Amino acid sequence: MRPVRVRFAPSPTGALHIGGVRTALYNYLLAKKTNGTMILRIEDTDQTRFVPGAEEYIIQALEWVGIKTDEGVLQGGPHAPYRQSERKSIYKQYAQKLVDDGNAYYAFDSEEELEAMRNRLKATGSVHQQYSATTRMMMDNSLTLPESEVEQKLKSGVPYVIRLKVPDSEEIELHDLIRGEVKVHSSQVDDKVLMKSDGMPTYHLANVVDDYLMQVTHVIRGEEWLPSAPLHVLLYRYLGWEKQMPRFAHLPLLLKPDGNGKLSKRDADQAGFPIFPLNWTDPKTGELAKGFRESGYLPDALLNFLAFLGWNPGTEQELFSLHELIEAFTVERIGKAGARFDIHKAQWFNQQYIKAKPDEELAEYLLASLPAGTCSPERAAKICGVLKERVTFTHDFWLQGKFFFEAPASYDEQVISKKWNDDAIKVLTAFSTALAAIPDLTAAVAKTTLEKVTAELGIGTGKILQALRVSVTGAGSGPDLMLSMEILGSSEVVSRINRALSTIKKV
Ligand code: GLU
Repeated sequence: MRPVRVRFAPSPTGALHIGGVRTALYNYLLAKKTNGTMILRIEDTDQTRFVPGAEEYIIQALEWVGIKTDEGVLQGGPHAPYRQSERKSIYKQYAQKLVDDGNAYYAFDSEEELEAMRNRLKATGSVHQQYSATTRMMMDNSLTLPESEVEQKLKSGVPYVIRLKVPDSEEIELHDLIRGEVKVHSSQVDDKVLMKSDGMPTYHLANVVDDYLMQVTHVIRGEEWLPSAPLHVLLYRYLGWEKQMPRFAHLPLLLKPDGNGKLSKRDADQAGFPIFPLNWTDPKTGELAKGFRESGYLPDALLNFLAFLGWNPGTEQELFSLHELIEAFTVERIGKAGARFDIHKAQWFNQQYIKAKPDEELAEYLLASLPAGTCSPERAAKICGVLKERVTFTHDFWLQGKFFFEAPASYDEQVISKKWNDDAIKVLTAFSTALAAIPDLTAAVAKTTLEKVTAELGIGTGKILQALRVSVTGAGSGPDLMLSMEILGSSEVVSRINRALSTIKKV
């Protein structure tokens, strides 16, 4: 058995879609599980689709989620360069071999001629309007032109492409680790361009050549590449590399939240959830798409969520650390059926991860929302500790914890109208007086002091709790009130209660 080598091979055509992160994750899990190697290769041979900043974005996104590659554009390696545009000269010889062996041919057709061919076929009612075994002999190529004319054209610099000569009538078979045997009739495969007129290879040629040269053992990629796989099988065969052909695993599609059709950026935009890992500003339109990071997701929660979009461990367990995912992962447990993208499930994972994180780590998120130096890390950690059961997103620490930094500017009117009565005023007045004598307030002392005051006044503590909360925080609900008062400190609580007593009108 060859050592496992997988690759994540994105094209820098824009932001990395969340489905791409899942592809990277599955590759990573297999590599780590098998002590294998993960390669990051940038497939940038299509110059027309190149988007500046996209490669950097992909690298940053992988770094944020914690997927570390072993070899590739970042660290180099034995098969460098790992950016296909820098490997141009490598592909040429293989294209030439295919032509020399009669498995590929030069084609000189202009755009207009190709268009005319498609229109002709359309007019005759043909379902396929492709350059293929049925049409190639009517076109302008090295199979139809006399050898001398071909040579003449090549010499004089007439633009040409190299096309694969797909066999006439053959059942092309491949084994997919997820889908089992896949058979495609060669009549469904067109004579794909392998080398373009700009001298760049197409994705198909570059992908196969690189997977072979980089000794890739498993190709794990999205389902959208399944139709290309038969073509790749032909290339492995014609290049004499059948024995080294990687094993294929085409991942299931990510479906819209309602399960109907492929998830698109539009669906995500409409439903108001992110589809990219990090913020992305489209360099052409300037449009900003919010990322999972900026929307308050934790990277490990996102990975756990993504792992389950197509894979399952076969048990009830849902929460897996990255280490546990590596242990549990097998390609065989990836399903064929499309995986519904349920953002509520992503939120649930995020809540679980926030709850489980140490307060000191969560403090970073709160501190990031505050002007530098306004809150000590210890205090921030304490605030996060009382809030973490209640938050879904990292920015919720600030949204729900604002009252720790700002005295209420207004009070929840519903609570006031129901609970701000004589009893409440009596208790709060006495409580504030009692607190003024206790400079070092703890949650336990706050509780016993309040209970003492209410007992003395003969008023049930439960009856006035909401009034106390509204006077201290402004809101009708929130985190543990006694702990919140401990964090605020005695004098701040006293001043807030007194302010509420003097400003809120009795009902
Ligand atoms: N460059 C292709 C992409 O952008 C990679 C497909 C593959 O993994 O073979 O998705």
